[in-house]
Amino acid sequence: MTDVPEEENVTLDLLKQKMAEFAKEREWDKFHSPRNLLLALVGEVGELSEIFQWKGEVPKGLPDWKEEEKLHLGEELSDVLLYLVRLSDICGIDLGKAALRKVQLNATKYPLTLCKTTTTDHQTDSSSD
Ligand SMILES: [Mg+2]
Repeated sequence: MTDVPEEENVTLDLLKQKMAEFAKEREWDKFHSPRNLLLALVGEVGELSEIFQWKGEVPKGLPDWKEEEKLHLGEELSDVLLYLVRLSDICGIDLGKAALRKVQLNATKYPLTLCKTTTTDHQTDSSSD
């Protein structure tokens, strides 16, 4: 396993810079079109889905998972995040600001007074529409 230096504060901007440097050093900018990055992102979402495929419902915190399974999960989650950050950068979208705006829009769309649920009626979660 590769040792990872401890970053004081991992931010979307730091990840954006790291991805930009990574692509530039390898002369991969020519391949990082919005369409290509989107397709790569979707592929990584598929790899992430495979980890959960056929496991049925799993408890929060994944207490029964082996360390290597959690390591693999972290890698695939990271692949999704990194392609999302790169896609946003290439499209000129400030992902952090866009995400905060979306949280505000969701709060308006789903006010607390309409979203309180009982233990029997929260089968659907539409908070990420
Ligand atoms: Mg992957």
